[in-house]
Amino acid sequence: MKKKGVLVILSGFAGSGKGTIIRELLQKYDNYALSVSATTRAPREGEEEGVHYFFKTEDEFKDMIAKGELLEYANYVGNYYGTPRAYVKEKLAEGMNVILEIETEGALSIKREYPDAVLIFVMPPSVEEIHHRLKQRGTESDEVIAKRMKKAGLEISVVDRYDFLMINDVLAESVEMFNAIVASQQMAVSRNRDYIDDKKKEFEEYLSRQKEN
Ligand code: 5GP
Repeated sequence: MKKKGVLVILSGFAGSGKGTIIRELLQKYDNYALSVSATTRAPREGEEEGVHYFFKTEDEFKDMIAKGELLEYANYVGNYYGTPRAYVKEKLAEGMNVILEIETEGALSIKREYPDAVLIFVMPPSVEEIHHRLKQRGTESDEVIAKRMKKAGLEISVVDRYDFLMINDVLAESVEMFNAIVASQQMAVSRNRDYIDDKKKEFEEYLSRQKEN
């Protein structure tokens, strides 16, 4: 039985460790594809074009919106971020599980268009820990960190609309939890209608052959 790919959205506060979970997951399992977003944010040190993001000017980004090339987009702390549509469609069609690591507004707009999408929210064990991880990363100024903490305080109110919550304490456990959520989704009856219909047909044929004999 060929499993259908699941569209999985992982959101979480800056510093929640979601990027690390995804990196480990991709190393361990080969049935996941990570969507690379477009953004108008400047690259951080070590970030590569096409690997971490497709870095765009605001005009280029707006052009992508106008051409319908983005599945969703949002403004986060002053910069645009969006998911290129073509890659997601292509990988899902190949049967891969596609991961979008995006913020809450984009996540909820995807859920409206694709009710089958699975929304996972990841949180660090405590609020203090969020601040600590952001400071430790050392990639943002105190001012940007303060803005991101404020944003986190707002984002907590939409967690209610997600499907799953993960507390990222022990990394290896988080990776397994993520994979378990997705694997269980693939077994959902609602995602396997075609397979079930096929089996019903097979049974009908089998029983009618029995009758004939
Ligand atoms: P960062 O600047 O830390 O890389 O990302 C800031 C926020 O933007 C994170 O919450 C990240 O998940 C989110 N983000 C990254 N790509 C996208 C995207 O394509 N669409 C949306 N809506 N959010 C994104």
